Amino acid sequence: MSELLQTPIEFLKGVGPQRAQLLQKELGIFNYGDLLHTYPYRYLDRSIYHKCKDLPYVDSYVQLVGTIDNIKEIGTARFKRLSARFSDDSGTIELIWFQGGQWIKQMLVAGLPYQAFGKAKLTNGIWAMPHPELTPIKDVFKKAGFQPFYSSTEKLNHKGLNTKGIEKLVQNLFVQHSIQAKEYLPENLIKEHQLISRTAALKQIHLPVSEIEIQQAKLRLKFEELFFLQLEMLIRKGTRVQATKGHIFEQSGELLKEFYTHHLPFELTNAQKRVIKEIRKDFLTGRHMNRLLQGDVGSGKTLVALIAMLIANGNGYQACIMAPTEILANQHFETIRELLKGVSIRIALLTGSTKKSERTPLFASLQNGEINLLIGTHALLEDPVQFNNLGFVVIDEQHRFGVAQRGKMWKKNSIPPHVLVMTATPIPRTLAMTFYGDLDVSVIDELPPGRKPISTIHRFESHRLALFGFMRKEIALGRQIYIVYPLIKESEKLDFNNLMDGFEAISRSFPIPDYQVSIVHGKMKPEAKDYEMQRFIKGETHIMVATTVIEVGVNVPNASVMIIESAERFGLAQLHQLRGRVGRGAEKSYCILMTGNELSREAKKRMGTMVATTDGFEIAEVDLQLRGPGDLMGTQQSGILELKIADLAKDGDLINSARDSAIELIEKDPNLLHEENTCLREKMISLLRERPNWGKIG
Ligand code: ADP
Ligand code: MG
Repeated sequence: MSELLQTPIEFLKGVGPQRAQLLQKELGIFNYGDLLHTYPYRYLDRSIYHKCKDLPYVDSYVQLVGTIDNIKEIGTARFKRLSARFSDDSGTIELIWFQGGQWIKQMLVAGLPYQAFGKAKLTNGIWAMPHPELTPIKDVFKKAGFQPFYSSTEKLNHKGLNTKGIEKLVQNLFVQHSIQAKEYLPENLIKEHQLISRTAALKQIHLPVSEIEIQQAKLRLKFEELFFLQLEMLIRKGTRVQATKGHIFEQSGELLKEFYTHHLPFELTNAQKRVIKEIRKDFLTGRHMNRLLQGDVGSGKTLVALIAMLIANGNGYQACIMAPTEILANQHFETIRELLKGVSIRIALLTGSTKKSERTPLFASLQNGEINLLIGTHALLEDPVQFNNLGFVVIDEQHRFGVAQRGKMWKKNSIPPHVLVMTATPIPRTLAMTFYGDLDVSVIDELPPGRKPISTIHRFESHRLALFGFMRKEIALGRQIYIVYPLIKESEKLDFNNLMDGFEAISRSFPIPDYQVSIVHGKMKPEAKDYEMQRFIKGETHIMVATTVIEVGVNVPNASVMIIESAERFGLAQLHQLRGRVGRGAEKSYCILMTGNELSREAKKRMGTMVATTDGFEIAEVDLQLRGPGDLMGTQQSGILELKIADLAKDGDLINSARDSAIELIEKDPNLLHEENTCLREKMISLLRERPNWGKIG
């Protein structure tokens, strides 16, 4: 049977060599099986009828019953159209044909009841239906049931393969062959989740006769897709954990002890303690650690990373931390240097602007092991950076780095260093499970004590004067203020002008010598940026006007107001990151979202969400609903994970139950050797072959 599904698509009735080529190119359909697995994206219930008076929305497919009159040709000789009036007891619409009018005109019978089916269009305030499918009422019962809609492309359309054309091919496939699909899921799983068979599902997804059939088919195919994916992740994780040896850090070490007892400035939160324990445990197993640390902005990830690095150091290994921007690397360096004052350890900083004269000795002391802890940007990935014995790597704000960059770190030591990837952009649980299902995940779900909540306020341009007044008051209280402008590649020039205009306006309203205003943006030289940043950090300036370069990581506890200009242009994750720059000290903090008056529905939702909650995970959920998983995870990953039918944003419950089932199965039968899992094993082997490398994220 699987042989039938391997038959080249060319041989299907209605295809032939030309269309076959197009189907391959445009939709990746090479054989019968591919066509069978090209699912409709929606259905229309052909048993539901609309009235001319209340068509739902433009471009909706509708079905009407009525009569035709007023059949006439309109337009000029060069652009002739056929038009007819279609009426039911509620009103009328216009039917219109741009081609084939002559012929259609002869077929139409005025006064006879017809069913009209097609897309509802609105032109000049009049509802119309171009090229309707017209069936005399006495014949329509044949058409009852569900009409599937398939994605097509411009080129396929030209060859007659629009959604209807593809529907026809699928029908041919089912009419001409008896389709039997191989069952991969073990019997007990099918029973437990009340799934229909694969064969039934494939038939029902294409040719459903009821809403229930559609639901059954979707459930079955979605579950299967998600289950395979979760199983794949678990297998990869198992293989990686077993196969990759890792350094053993046996003791927590004198260094950590010294730091912990004499230099730790505050009590760790319970969440921090728990995560450190999890990392400690990994360090002891002799297997390679690949751990993702999720924690909201300000939850204290840096300290966790530092403690883990000290453990590596204490066991005689070097460690490093890589940050996505120079500002952030500098800041990590300063923070860590401050924290480690008096601790006998040698740390160093390496970024793109580290001078050549400093590099040579730095590389030498790195190679001979004198430097224990290296902090830097992706400059750390460059070839001349060679360690003596790198045992542990921390990657901060991982979403900024590509997979390839991260993979490079693996090769810096013969036994790969343990990897801790940190992200401050919370990822919804279902996504984390799927995208990082082969990593171990730790979560810091608690903020350090004593933080005052941040008030978030949404304001329109008309409030600007009041805003200035508020800023003066805050500055008088000794606080500092960020003002962030969007600077987006596509509109860079305009945005840059806005930023500069904004800076000027602020400088005028907050003049020297009473006020000091800094500016930081991506076009400045690194030294200039750093100088301005340092002035703000030291409290020498009151207001920092900036672009999103300050988005990640920057920590100035005395800054208590974050003003985001044109906030509607930022995504939720970014807004949340920006807001996380304040509320770091003991003072009450504010985030003010300035927007134009006209907001899209989505922008309103984003502003509303920001005002309503400061919980990063909650925000991530909304973000997922608004943007979809591909966008949320960044394009480099979305290509890796293309789901045919399940929706990572909407099928959360199903993802959970697929995950649970996969875990249960792998615990009982880790290598899928039980008799009932034979087919599943076969399937997984072929899946793992298709996507060979996607496990090595760290
Ligand atoms: P993030 O998780 O966003 O990287 P940071 O590591 O920058 O957060 O920490 C944010 C702030 O919280 C820093 O000023 C840090 O010193 C402080 N901090 C971290 N852990 C604690 C703690 N347990 N108690 C009090 N303050 C803490
Ligand atoms: Mg951080």
